[in-house]
Amino acid sequence: MKRYRIAIVGAGPAGYFAAQTLQNLQSEVLRFEIDMIERLPTPWGLVRSGVAPDHPKIKTVSKVFEKIATTEGFNLFCNVELGSDISTKELTENYDAVVIATGTSKGKKLGVPGEELRGSLSAAEFVPWYNAHPDFVDVDVPLDSDTAVVIGAGNVAMDVARMLALEPRELDVTDTADHALALLHQSKIRTVHVYGRRGPEHVAFTAPELRELPKLDHTDVFINPQDVRDAIARVEALGEVPKDVRSNLDAMLAIAESPKKGHARSLYFHFLASPVAINGENKVNEVIFAKNKFENAKVSQTSETFSIEAGLVISAIGYEAIPIEGIPCEGGRVQNTEGCVEGTNIYVVGWAKRGPSGVIGTNKSDAAEVMKLLISRLVEPRSVTGIQALLNKKGIVHISQAHWELINSAEVAKGEPHGKPRVKFTDRREMLGFAG
Ligand code: NAP
Repeated sequence: MKRYRIAIVGAGPAGYFAAQTLQNLQSEVLRFEIDMIERLPTPWGLVRSGVAPDHPKIKTVSKVFEKIATTEGFNLFCNVELGSDISTKELTENYDAVVIATGTSKGKKLGVPGEELRGSLSAAEFVPWYNAHPDFVDVDVPLDSDTAVVIGAGNVAMDVARMLALEPRELDVTDTADHALALLHQSKIRTVHVYGRRGPEHVAFTAPELRELPKLDHTDVFINPQDVRDAIARVEALGEVPKDVRSNLDAMLAIAESPKKGHARSLYFHFLASPVAINGENKVNEVIFAKNKFENAKVSQTSETFSIEAGLVISAIGYEAIPIEGIPCEGGRVQNTEGCVEGTNIYVVGWAKRGPSGVIGTNKSDAAEVMKLLISRLVEPRSVTGIQALLNKKGIVHISQAHWELINSAEVAKGEPHGKPRVKFTDRREMLGFAG
């Protein structure tokens, strides 16, 4: 029997699905010892710090993660950072193969003047802030104006907009971070404007997320029906309309035509507008947009501009990977050929491999392909011992699966009296206390 040691760096969906594939491909002659390494004291990646708190169903995938984690041969090493605690060289020398599943956590920049003003944030800061990520507890989120602007027409923009436009009482029974919930309760924001730079036929929202919007209990959602009808005419003129585009347009038309209830909170979706400047003295008070137009079926910017007064602007226009020492990065992701970093025993899965696209489930098939490639390239098992001895030598305390289970139970117990699924710890020291 051959037993290989594999390191998976990053305890998010892509990392767990990679581990699951390796586990499923084990046989009487092939076994894997899997060490999952994560820089945070807790696992689950975006399921913990990305998925919106009002989408608890999506988080149930964590049950799958826990099944993988409690399978023989799986070891969790949280609170261990590749690049600072251990080097890429140390990993590649101590494992038969290394799988990078570190995602893309840096928000892309708009590149417009005023983007650095107070009140201008990236979703890459705002989302982990409301999700209790320990590194984002102190993000400055001014909610003292009545209007917020969200840039981008993807599902992250939609999550961000919903979180700002919801009646905060609806979040009381979720795992929204306490610090965020307290501020959201005091929020003066009553109108949220989401801007896409192309037409309704080009949005990156997905239909199930759009279909939820007219069901919001305390927020009216507005889309100009003519914008959607124009988009339908444009796509139909081009021939057969792709199924996802048709579903999105149908969902947007349903929103546009849904009766409004006169709620105090409103969420507007606008199209064909690109931000060109963010203005304000010390803090954002206005966003300037250029109007875009269709020309030969392509979208181009016009010289016509308009402005929206707002005290908060959040850009949700995609993410890039933060480069890791010793691993080649290009175009915001790890340089790879079908998941292999050529000339090395390093592989890459998830957003770090293909960029920030797809839903959680997309990572399953993607990781499976890469793990099959990894297995096909394995030679004889090396006599390697993994990371434990290295951590002992360096005096690095890690959170194991057993420690994490204690943290998990404590969080769930803290939430119970308040009807919440959990109250997340945000203090690293408090979490490290569970490691004894
Ligand atoms: P995304 O789906 O790629 O959307 C990014 C949006 O930003 C696009 O509308 C894009 O417009 C726009 N954009 C890019 N650069 C821009 C610029 N300079 N100015 C104005 N707009 C710009 O990215 P995402 O929303 O970050 O989501 C990432 C992935 O996570 C997606 O696959 C998403 O479906 C998934 N996700 C899923 C859920 C869920 O299932 N509930 C929740 C959150 C995220 P163009 O199309 O014109 O480039």
